[in-house]
Amino acid sequence: MPDPPRVGSAVTRLRAAGERVTTARYAVLRVVDAADRADEHLTAEQIGARVAEAEPAVHRATVYRTLTSLVETGVLSHVHLGGTATIYHLTEPASLEEHQHHHQHEHAHVQCHECGRVLDVPPELFDDVRERLRAELGFELDTGHAALLGTCRDCDARGIAANPTPGAPRRS
Ligand SMILES: [Zn+2]
Ligand SMILES: [Zn+2]
Repeated sequence: MPDPPRVGSAVTRLRAAGERVTTARYAVLRVVDAADRADEHLTAEQIGARVAEAEPAVHRATVYRTLTSLVETGVLSHVHLGGTATIYHLTEPASLEEHQHHHQHEHAHVQCHECGRVLDVPPELFDDVRERLRAELGFELDTGHAALLGTCRDCDARGIAANPTPGAPRRS
């Protein structure tokens, strides 16, 4: 079966950077690419489980090291969620040269702190916030690096987050 285009591109970029394409690296790239295309956001544990299905000989610890090294080489990006979880995406080809700045071109994420769902957000949504932080604090906001937490539409509709603090004024 031929490589999906983004896996092929990642492999080409790794080789061009003088990096080896090991069985573990290849398996991780395929798993993350499939997840990206299915609009899934996988944690390291979930990626490890899927790599184990495809390549049982690859140890879980190797998968975690591989994720770290692929982020370092710029072919994967990581996003911190609430708690300790981290999710991964394949980066677009331009990112290798622009590694220092690539987060700014990536989509941002919001995560529901009730159900854990992760949603993609276009990066330009934060343009005003980014401009103000730069102008007022000289701060460069990196919206791609961590998810913002909140409550998703479904959980909000179920009223999970609607428990008012006792004594707090209630808006209806
Ligand atoms: Zn939710
Ligand atoms: Zn995403």
